[in-house]
Amino acid sequence: MRHRIAVIGAGPAGLTFACVLRRHGHPVTILERDPAPDARPPGGTLDLHERMGQLALGKAGLLAEFQALSRPEGQAMRILDTDGTVLRDWQPRPGDQANPEIDRGQLRDLLLGPLDVQWGRGVTEVVPGARDGVLVRFADGRQETFDLVIGADGAWSRVRPAISSATPHYTGITSVETSLDDVDTRHPDLARLVGDGSMAVYGVNRALVAQRNSGGHVKVYAQFRAPLDWHTGLDRRADMDAGMDAGLDLADVEAARSSLLALFDGWAAPVLDLLRHSTAFVHRPLYVLPVSHTWAHVPGVTLLGDAAHLMPPLGVGANLAMLEGAELAESVAAAPGPGDLDEAVRAFEEQMWTRAGRWAEITMAGLERLVSPDPTEALALFDEVQPS
Ligand SMILES: Cc1cc2nc3c(=O)[nH]c(=O)nc-3n(C[C@H](O)[C@H](O)[C@H](O)COP(=O)(O)OP(=O)(O)OC[C@H]3O[C@@H](n4cnc5c(N)ncnc54)[C@H](O)[C@@H]3O)c2cc1C
Repeated sequence: MRHRIAVIGAGPAGLTFACVLRRHGHPVTILERDPAPDARPPGGTLDLHERMGQLALGKAGLLAEFQALSRPEGQAMRILDTDGTVLRDWQPRPGDQANPEIDRGQLRDLLLGPLDVQWGRGVTEVVPGARDGVLVRFADGRQETFDLVIGADGAWSRVRPAISSATPHYTGITSVETSLDDVDTRHPDLARLVGDGSMAVYGVNRALVAQRNSGGHVKVYAQFRAPLDWHTGLDRRADMDAGMDAGLDLADVEAARSSLLALFDGWAAPVLDLLRHSTAFVHRPLYVLPVSHTWAHVPGVTLLGDAAHLMPPLGVGANLAMLEGAELAESVAAAPGPGDLDEAVRAFEEQMWTRAGRWAEITMAGLERLVSPDPTEALALFDEVQPS
């Protein structure tokens, strides 16, 4: 018996789910709000862990292609003091495939492969318990019915309200993202400073993290404790109401640059050059869902990834999203009848909640230590996670 299954969102969670389900010979409808795969910048680099993201790619039959694309050398991690002193300089051993990096755009294209995504299909509402299944309403006024609707639509999920009243809350820590292109030729000193992987500097309630992507592109994240409206003119509410999750543009580039340079005043000049030479600035306040977010099971609807458990960006969210996508697809593929399908989803949710709750606690505690009044906490955390 063929179930009518829809996954909302073509991010890491939704695409991995669809890839694995398709590999098991089951059709799935993929509905994505963006009008095209490259409608907005894909974002930075992701490290995929052997037992999470890579395991999921294995289940999708894509591990070898991932290994050909990914950057094991990108696991390198350097920590500097605010005066520029190198405190740690960790390099992966040859052949280390524990957490290689891949550009988010490359991962998306890899997963998209032969999948047939319906682009430009923003969901506005999901109504369980309709006469013929679960009703999905779209921004263009159309509606469709499915047996199972999977909300893989990220932090500001439109599926989540059908099963949970939880909404993300601001952590008190914000992030401004900026980037530099072609660093090896245009900014060789900064290329050396960042190295093959990531470089981080931790100060009092502030952190500056730079990550090398492929093609000489470097993303820089300035993180600090601040009220949500630290920069005048920001109106996150309007952004949320419009259903956007891409962060806010700090439109006046030079004003944004000066604000950041003032916030990081006194830090070593080579470190601040990352801000001086970068291009546009995008405000990405860090929101999270409650640490142990669960819900009373609703037949026909479930959530995956950030929609289920948005947590601080400490290298786990995409990994969990992909592993969950793969696991749910395997469970669904193994469920022959409607009753089995619901049981499979219910069992999956229990497993997801336990694991995600643990990671939410770890990443929340980690964020508190990385952007902390006591910068030695960040170094101590690094030594715990990455012993030399
Ligand atoms: C700066 C930063 C760095 C990070 N680094 C890492 C890392 O190194 N490793 C890691 O594991 N994680 C990392 N993360 C976390 C990771 O990005 C997320 O956890 C991951 O993207 C979640 O995947 P997802 O598929 O659940 O959601 P998303 O990636 O948010 O995808 C959701 C998709 O749903 C679509 N959508 C949204 N609303 C609708 C709608 N109404 N209708 C239809 N479609 C909709 C969106 O357009 C999007 O395509 C990082 C996050 C940030 C912010």
